[in-house]
Amino acid sequence: MADKVEIKGAEGRTVAVENPSTGAHLATVSAAQAADVDRAVQSSLAAFNSSWRRSEHSTRRALLNRLADLIERDAEELASLEAVDAGMLYRMSLGLSVAQAAETCRYFAGWTDKLDGQSMRIAEGMAYTQREPIGVCATIVPWNAPLMITIWKLAPAIAAGNTLIIKTPELAPLYGQKLARLVAEAGFPPGVINVLCGLGHVAGQTLSEHPLVRKVSFTGSAAVGRRILESSARTNLKRVTVELGGKGPTCVFADADWENALAHVTAGITVHNGQICAAGSRIYVQDEIYDRFVEEFSKRTRDAVAGDPLLDTTVKGPLVSANQRARVEGYIQKALKEDTKLLHGDAGSQAPSKGHFVPNTAFVDVQPSATIMREEVFGPVASIARFRTEEEVIALANDSEYGLSAAVFTNDVTRAMRISDAVECGQVTVNMWGTVNANTPFGGYKQSGFGRDLGKEGLDEWTNVKCVKVNLNLSRL
Ligand code: NAD
Repeated sequence: MADKVEIKGAEGRTVAVENPSTGAHLATVSAAQAADVDRAVQSSLAAFNSSWRRSEHSTRRALLNRLADLIERDAEELASLEAVDAGMLYRMSLGLSVAQAAETCRYFAGWTDKLDGQSMRIAEGMAYTQREPIGVCATIVPWNAPLMITIWKLAPAIAAGNTLIIKTPELAPLYGQKLARLVAEAGFPPGVINVLCGLGHVAGQTLSEHPLVRKVSFTGSAAVGRRILESSARTNLKRVTVELGGKGPTCVFADADWENALAHVTAGITVHNGQICAAGSRIYVQDEIYDRFVEEFSKRTRDAVAGDPLLDTTVKGPLVSANQRARVEGYIQKALKEDTKLLHGDAGSQAPSKGHFVPNTAFVDVQPSATIMREEVFGPVASIARFRTEEEVIALANDSEYGLSAAVFTNDVTRAMRISDAVECGQVTVNMWGTVNANTPFGGYKQSGFGRDLGKEGLDEWTNVKCVKVNLNLSRL
């Protein structure tokens, strides 16, 4: 924001924010309209052109490190906001979302003075490349881990010398108000980072169509990803990266460490109620251990009682909204109509009355053609099936339009490497599920999208490459 840290939206429109574990009204936040988006873009462009594009890397490094310090200082407040707003367990937000946000700031702070190019010999003499900022960039983020995902964009965008407009998710915008204050306190010049809350089809759409925005980094559903790509194609051909959904295959071999596999596989579909793009929602278990594994999986997941995400004793929180709950329950009903065998789960049975709770649910012997095997549910619903051979499980794992992440559990290292090599997705984890590391790239194959967050590849997404060619032989044509 150009002059003040916080301003009200142009038309006085608002978004009502709800606590998903009680249904209670939490807050009212300004909803950015087209005029607000334009104001943010103008302030972002002014900041980029005035000095930010040529800012010293030591300045950008210091600011990102300072932001990391402030995120750590206010970690408990940020985690509380994600708990009451997005329904994430407080301790998960503290240990994952907030901790990762700070780590990601520090990781990309370290890249600010390493944005190197290459030099090459050419027939005429020498050429070299340099990486430059793109200009005014935007990011549109989802509600499931909003702080962490926002920082996945903010840190590399800023490290590379861009200015950034953040469109926070309307279902969980409160972290964004706090982040904007921390950005101001850290000392970022006005306009370098703007935060807008607003509806997707208004604020998000206007940003995607804006002729002065040169890049949009989007994380969210495939349907909205397509719309953003269309907006770019219709307007100024801005660069777009899309981090979309997943339908993660988890392959458990009979020789896997039993306890380790169970712990990770159960976490893969129950942590944050499966509202994670990398959730291990397709679980393939080898024939020899199938029945025993399924029984133990059920024992460990079926009775999880949902409660207040702020409490340390709570193991399961709510889904983010009534719509999300209806969507997940719709998938469960569809599976039952398709005659898929229910292992456990009974919608509504243990739900506290007002929140958006769905019990952990699992289906077994699920056919490859079943809807719950093919579509992203984004809820605590496991689809389990049997396999016999390595070739069979590779074919099953790749039988999907998604390709974000996969997990393999085996004690045979060569098999783990063969499977990692064969599966069509951007990330494979061996004998574990669910690791996020600032220094490793994350992103999809196929309809899980393109572009990468995190790691060196994540930084490259926020730069333009310029090639300079120098004639060293002036007499030669
Ligand atoms: P969503 O696509 O509904 O919304 C994401 C964002 O897009 C929100 O900020 C929303 O306001 C905005 N939006 C909506 N309509 C828009 C439009 N017409 N133009 C521009 N912006 C618009 O997704 P969601 O429900 O918030 O999140 C769940 C989805 O996100 C799941 O599919 C999940 O897999 C995916 N996700 C992917 C990753 C990843 O890294 N690949 C990470 C987390 C979530």
